[in-house]
Amino acid sequence: MLINKYKTLLLIIFFIFLFSIQWISAQSLPLQDTIIMVDAGHGGRDSGTYYGEIKEKDINLEIAKQLEQELTKNGAIVYMIRKSDIDLSSIYDSLKKRGDLYRRLLKIKETKSDLYISIHINWYDNSTLKGAEVLYNDINKNNKLLATSIMNYFKKDLNSTRSIKTTDLYMYRNTTTPGVLIECGYLSNPTERNLLQSKSYQQKLANSITKGIIKYLSKNKKIKYLI
Ligand SMILES: [Zn+2]
Repeated sequence: MLINKYKTLLLIIFFIFLFSIQWISAQSLPLQDTIIMVDAGHGGRDSGTYYGEIKEKDINLEIAKQLEQELTKNGAIVYMIRKSDIDLSSIYDSLKKRGDLYRRLLKIKETKSDLYISIHINWYDNSTLKGAEVLYNDINKNNKLLATSIMNYFKKDLNSTRSIKTTDLYMYRNTTTPGVLIECGYLSNPTERNLLQSKSYQQKLANSITKGIIKYLSKNKKIKYLI
């Protein structure tokens, strides 16, 4: 009888222990309850920039998938604008690119995302130019803060010498949801072209972006919806 009591007590202690561990780990995830939309730029009929057979849309998607994993590991609820080689335009759109971007904006809104991250690759005629950089629109005050936070990690982790810039592109001036456009590097630079195609560098990019988001949220939780 006494042994049975001990057994029950031990069992209770064991379950309390298990529950606490789960509770602590759930509490300690930095992106818990944050909804993030990852937007792999271009896709389908729209390749973006390219070098021979190397297309921006494919690299964007690979980086976006790595980012999805990294953010999920840190507790975020992640949505992907696209998970395969498609674009979001309709056969009825007279302006395909506009239709594609409009539907991306709708997805950000429908999912009630707290923030979005657009992934792109750059090109410049001068092939010496290189480095990851972050662009933002001034539509809300959060965008610059998020851009600065991610850019700091690009400088620290990836030795990027670039800096944040503003953009007035259609997609970024038409959503009040906080978010940034990330140009992960230059396809026109031979060294960076190789790096951008390697899994390890894509992982580094995903890491730096995630760290930038975590830092931004930890500093700006109170003004999360400041518009
Ligand atoms: Zn692009």
